[in-house]
Amino acid sequence: MKKKSEANDIEAAREILRAAGLRSTPARIAVLIALQKGNKPQTHAELSERLVPLGFDKATVFRNLTDLTDVELVSRTELGDHVWRFEIRDPNHDRSSHPHFVCVDCGTVSCMEGMSLPDDKQRKSLNISRISEILVKGHCLVCEPV
Ligand SMILES: [Zn+2]
Ligand SMILES: [Zn+2]
Repeated sequence: MKKKSEANDIEAAREILRAAGLRSTPARIAVLIALQKGNKPQTHAELSERLVPLGFDKATVFRNLTDLTDVELVSRTELGDHVWRFEIRDPNHDRSSHPHFVCVDCGTVSCMEGMSLPDDKQRKSLNISRISEILVKGHCLVCEPV
């Protein structure tokens, strides 16, 4: 049963890479699946911890993260600590349509739906051409219970 779902994951990853115009190398597939399985944004160090034992070196992991980011399959966030965190980009999720809250302790990102961003007219008056993302930083309830 486990074998079958693993094969499906690999097939799905190949499909995603092909659609993005990237070659399906074993390292690229492994990085993509590791990101899909993570339930929060992951750092290069965290991903390496999981992938190095599988036979991929840290530089390979980093290069593939960069490739995936370049084709916009993966998004990269920095919380002000100079550490990049990587997560799968959901094509159905328009990151520019609402702000996001990011916990600076654990890196978890959540949607702040229902909060609107400046419309075309407001943006023009603010001298803004395009907003790519709004990040609100703080501490989540898990890291800092109230
Ligand atoms: Zn947190
Ligand atoms: Zn969102």
